[in-house]
Amino acid sequence: MPKTALITGITGQDGSYLAEQLLDQGLRVVGMHRRLSAPNHWRIAHLAGRLELRSADLHDQGSIWDLLEEVRPDEIYNLAAQSFVPTSFSQPILTAEATGLGLVRLLEGVRRICPKARVYQASSSEMFGNSPDCPQDEDSHFVPASPYACAKVYAHHMVNNYREAYGLFAVSGILFNHESPRRGPEFLTRKVAMAAARIKRGEQAYLQLGDLTPRRDWGFAGDYTQAMQAMLRTEQPQDFVVATGQDHSVQDWVQASFEAVDLDWRDYVRQDPALLRKSEVRRLKGRATRAREVLGWQPQVDFQGLVEMMVHAELQRVDA
Ligand code: NAP
Repeated sequence: MPKTALITGITGQDGSYLAEQLLDQGLRVVGMHRRLSAPNHWRIAHLAGRLELRSADLHDQGSIWDLLEEVRPDEIYNLAAQSFVPTSFSQPILTAEATGLGLVRLLEGVRRICPKARVYQASSSEMFGNSPDCPQDEDSHFVPASPYACAKVYAHHMVNNYREAYGLFAVSGILFNHESPRRGPEFLTRKVAMAAARIKRGEQAYLQLGDLTPRRDWGFAGDYTQAMQAMLRTEQPQDFVVATGQDHSVQDWVQASFEAVDLDWRDYVRQDPALLRKSEVRRLKGRATRAREVLGWQPQVDFQGLVEMMVHAELQRVDA
């Protein structure tokens, strides 16, 4: 019997890469999606017929427990969340419910229904916020600077608590920003890639952005989903930082994206104060020594390769 993996957040960026990789290894993969007025399966359409889908919602405990009863997973990847930092300021309670309590609803089900299942929680570098430590690793201080980050810190501590109190094999991957052509269009990297391609084609005049000075450690989502699996296949459950160890400013990202279409970003980018975050995280840069040494994990795509992958994907979309 192949192992069964359950992925919450299957319709998101990471869910789609992770599902592909697990299916290719021969696992049975069940994806949890929530009911919407119209399905948004564009990232997983190519997996139809291989991937099993079930409906449940992080807000609804009964639906999650029913799902665990039915699927009896060996591995659970909790990727579902309200994941967009700006929305967490306008919808902090929903964010706490989905991104924080949603994980607890799942863990409560795991300990009652399938306590041998191994659980991966999608923690985030945003938890470090404006930490005095740089680069940040598993021992760095959390100074969360958004309702999203606060909800992730809560979930992160609950994973540790369930591991210690109930002996669950539950781990958190503290992943730094990871991007791809499947990133949601409201996220900065995809927004810039889309704009560069459209401006190149004369379909957009300019791009409005907020602060160009924050620095982030950007990697490729497909590399990071490999690390998630490795974390569930170690002997002892522990948390891991996953990062490239290289940081760049937002301006670096913008410049590289426009250079990928032979344009000078300064001719097309306007700053819009309305797009400034209520509290900004200045610098996130990870140190993934533990992931390298224990998991043997290394990123395969570098900053330049990632920018070009995303811009070229948008050019092809425009061309299509
Ligand atoms: P994403 O593209 O925004 O996907 C989020 C997923 O969560 C979507 O499938 C979404 O479903 C689902 N979801 C949201 N609310 C739900 C609810 N109430 N019930 C069930 N499902 C719900 O995020 P991602 O980039 O793949 O990231 C995956 C996880 O890693 C998230 O938890 C994110 O916070 C975390 N993370 C991401 C990064 C990054 O740089 N990408 C870094 C660190 C941590 P719909 O499609 O229906 O909206």
